[in-house]
Amino acid sequence: MATSLLITVFRVVLVEPHYAGNIGSVARLIKNFSIHELYLVNPKAYHLSEEAFRWAVHAKDVLERAVVVKRLEDAISDAVVSVGTTAKYYEKLVRRTPVEPRKMAEILEPYWSSKEVAALVFGREPSGLTNEELDLMDFNVTIPTSKEYPSLNLSHAVAIILYELYVRKHHLKRRFPPPKRAWDTLDRFLREIIAFTRRHNPEEVRRAIMAAYRRGARTEKEINALVGILSYVVRRCRCEEDRDGSKEGGR
Ligand code: SAH
Repeated sequence: MATSLLITVFRVVLVEPHYAGNIGSVARLIKNFSIHELYLVNPKAYHLSEEAFRWAVHAKDVLERAVVVKRLEDAISDAVVSVGTTAKYYEKLVRRTPVEPRKMAEILEPYWSSKEVAALVFGREPSGLTNEELDLMDFNVTIPTSKEYPSLNLSHAVAIILYELYVRKHHLKRRFPPPKRAWDTLDRFLREIIAFTRRHNPEEVRRAIMAAYRRGARTEKEINALVGILSYVVRRCRCEEDRDGSKEGGR
């Protein structure tokens, strides 16, 4: 198990992979994206071959740790959730309706901090997973691709799936949402500047700007960048008002 703070048991399962190069590439991806287990179901190529090692580059240890099993059931029976991947879109079979990789990552997000095993299952290069195999899955994922040629190379499909999964983990760790204090400051400056513009609908303008910023701003720094500019504008507005006021008072 890796020394990450989050306990992860995501497992990539390759069913009857035919090419050692693909197995090596998948091993590399497993390390790239901090996934911990590689299971090979009845592999048709040798995962400890020179070819596999060449493609794994710095992930040879993943190949050495790979677990070889005879049947798909042996790779998923201890998993709390099993996800199948298929290039074929089953519109007619409702329970087969696939989700997109981003949605899958959202569904699986809690497993980044769980001890449970979540299995991601990929099919054979020439023919994918069989209907019977897909039936064993909790849900299926299809990467949207051209209808003309929907099948990706096995390792490319693994890359897209693991990338989406990893993005969720990355956000989990780096989420520092702006505190209320930052939003309140922005709101106060906006009110003052909008009042200065004497718009007939100040509340609507304020809400629109705040809503746009709320949708987009992810960190306190981003809010502070705007607050910095606005505080300067507010000071100038106040000065101008004082000047105008004293002019009028002098008349
Ligand atoms: N004709 C097969 C292609 C197999 S490609 C099929 O239609 O499924 C080998 C494996 O790569 C697939 O079994 C699947 O695991 C993965 N894969 C390829 N293209 C994919 C896609 N568009 N969406 C999801 N997985 C895909």
